[in-house]
Amino acid sequence: MNQLSPAQEPSFRESVDLMYNRAVSLMDLPPGLEEKIRVCNATYTVRFGVRLRGHMHTFTGYRSVHSEHMEPVKGGIRFATAVDQDEVEALAALMTFKCALVEAPFGGSKGGLCIDPRDWEEHELEQITRRFAYELIKRDMINPAQNVPAPDMGTGEREMAWIADQYKRMNTTDINGNACVTGKPENAGGIKGRKEATGRGVQYALREFFRDPRDVELARMEGSLEGKTVIVQGLGNVGYHAAHFLQTEDGCIVKAIIERDGALLDHRGLDIAHVHEWITRHGGVKGYPDARHFEDGAALLEEECDILIPAALEGVINLSNAERIQAKLIIEAANGPVTAGADQILNEKGTVVIPDLYANAGGVTVSYFEWVKNLSHIRFGRMQRRQEEARHELIVSELERLDRYLGNAWSISPDFKAKYLRGADELELVRSGLDDTMREAFQSMREVLHEREDVHDYRTAGYIVAIERVAGSYRAKGL
Ligand code: GLU
Repeated sequence: MNQLSPAQEPSFRESVDLMYNRAVSLMDLPPGLEEKIRVCNATYTVRFGVRLRGHMHTFTGYRSVHSEHMEPVKGGIRFATAVDQDEVEALAALMTFKCALVEAPFGGSKGGLCIDPRDWEEHELEQITRRFAYELIKRDMINPAQNVPAPDMGTGEREMAWIADQYKRMNTTDINGNACVTGKPENAGGIKGRKEATGRGVQYALREFFRDPRDVELARMEGSLEGKTVIVQGLGNVGYHAAHFLQTEDGCIVKAIIERDGALLDHRGLDIAHVHEWITRHGGVKGYPDARHFEDGAALLEEECDILIPAALEGVINLSNAERIQAKLIIEAANGPVTAGADQILNEKGTVVIPDLYANAGGVTVSYFEWVKNLSHIRFGRMQRRQEEARHELIVSELERLDRYLGNAWSISPDFKAKYLRGADELELVRSGLDDTMREAFQSMREVLHEREDVHDYRTAGYIVAIERVAGSYRAKGL
């Protein structure tokens, strides 16, 4: 393929389409189905007014439904000034493929509100969020059975709690009301481990990557995660958790952090918890005392490192800088950080990319656990715990019987018994469920990549697995 010039950089949605088309060209789908899966089913645009600070302010929001091969459809709601129809549609398409890849039984959707949340006070944001939610709920675009949003850039637990409350006010008899949105606070129907889930998923993805020497070799590296140098762009919820876990649990050296107001660099490794605290207190990295500060943060994307983690915006690795990226491995914690053109350049120069549809799927995976917990009306893990306890009770009683038979030779201690009878708690269950999911999904991509001669990158492999599953569910419906 000829390389594109920066002026030819496609839009985000076109970029996703190009990646989709590349995978589909290696598959054997009937053309009708190929088109059906690619296109976005519907995008709803809403403009609404809220009276604030004595004036009527008009806001524009979107909710896009990409594919309803499974329902409800799922995907976050983003609050950012760059939100537009193209972006929301691209993100909704990615949700379809992401859910299919990790086998979360949802179709794909995404929403966005064109707003800078930092411009508004908390009570104003609440009014705006509730009004946006009202518009979407009215049209069944927020509904436990049809469309279930979650946090995304610029939104978090607080906004999800407002949305859930708004839904329940408008649907007082819906006993499943809490399941209308995920990513809620723990004390308002949420689940332990959801907030860290996307970052945790990035960590689990990297661990799985390093389990197979074929993959490590592909990225021209050696050994394990321990001691690998990392650069993270964006220390928001996803970037912070990924960087923090990789540093404290896997021995990675996070040498640079790129933020809106520049970047920090320390070759010996930055203290992530400390930098995060600084950003929370000062609104940026400027002035951080223990590292070198760079005004031009984006330039550090090109700094030498083993693993680059773009965890902020889309399109940051593009035709203008792809050639100069020195990282051996890029893991897309954000959605769409590498454009289709940049992807091609990176593939050609041997940079391995772990693609967004897999890399950041930890969030929606744990959202699925939360949704199931809300619908079951039982604390997550309680059923499993009961079963586990029953099994353990049986084992302990057998041991005791044997012990009596042997004349109390072992005398099983109450401490051992208590420990043995305790089941895993919610957080442990969520983490192990997420770990399993990330491992299995990686293995399905790995199989395609290493077994098919015509597939050379994880993105194409991931799309092939996902599209195959979406196609399978359309076929099962007879469409
Ligand atoms: N916004 C997140 C994503 O892009 C989470 C979606 C969800 O949990 O539904 O994957």
